[in-house]
Amino acid sequence: MSTTYLWNPPAVRSLPVRGEAARLPINRLFFVGRNYHAHAVEMGKPVDKASAQLFYFTKAPQTLVESGATTAYPPGTSNFHHEMELVVAIGKPGFRVPADQAHELVYGYACGLDMTRRDLQLVAREQGRPWDLGKDVEESSVVSEVVPMPGRVLERGAITLSVNEQVRQQSDIGMLIWNVREVIADLSRFYHLQPGDLIFTGTPEGVGPVVAGDRIDGHIDGVGDIRLTVGAAE
Ligand code: MN
Repeated sequence: MSTTYLWNPPAVRSLPVRGEAARLPINRLFFVGRNYHAHAVEMGKPVDKASAQLFYFTKAPQTLVESGATTAYPPGTSNFHHEMELVVAIGKPGFRVPADQAHELVYGYACGLDMTRRDLQLVAREQGRPWDLGKDVEESSVVSEVVPMPGRVLERGAITLSVNEQVRQQSDIGMLIWNVREVIADLSRFYHLQPGDLIFTGTPEGVGPVVAGDRIDGHIDGVGDIRLTVGAAE
């Protein structure tokens, strides 16, 4: 007998894949904090890799939005920030994966925006509270099409973001404090990584506020482009 539900279960979240008719079904959304030195400094929390540890937060898969969308300016903030990020799409399961085998888990890459209620995140940070209200914002995980590059580790490539055609963020994937291998290896110490997990690898410097009507354009060399339009508040 097939299972029946009280109401229709939520739809599977998915992303388009370049060159494929099939879409990539999404499992979890992981985010690396402070993974570019200049961004860590602009947030007032410089990183010394010798003594620091990687840290993460998560967002619900329901926050996923495809590139090209217009999303409402979210409630509860007056300082809604853009963060441009390289996203790794995991294609194979892995647990306690050594860094030299981490490439085997890679399905491909995408451009991502980790949109953030900065005012609420900073209040939470200062008061030792969880970051959820600042980070787990509805419609805040914006992702482009996924570009298949199975088994490949991206080591460099310009990453940029502009708002209304003014450049705000400009760096290179090679500036990651913890690179793609190190992130996959470390995260897999805590989670059984699964196909469909997305890892947002952190944002470079230049984060800043957007307002209703702004158009955000991001680019990563060798990966592609992402766009988001910020709509009016509901
Ligand atoms: Mn981020």
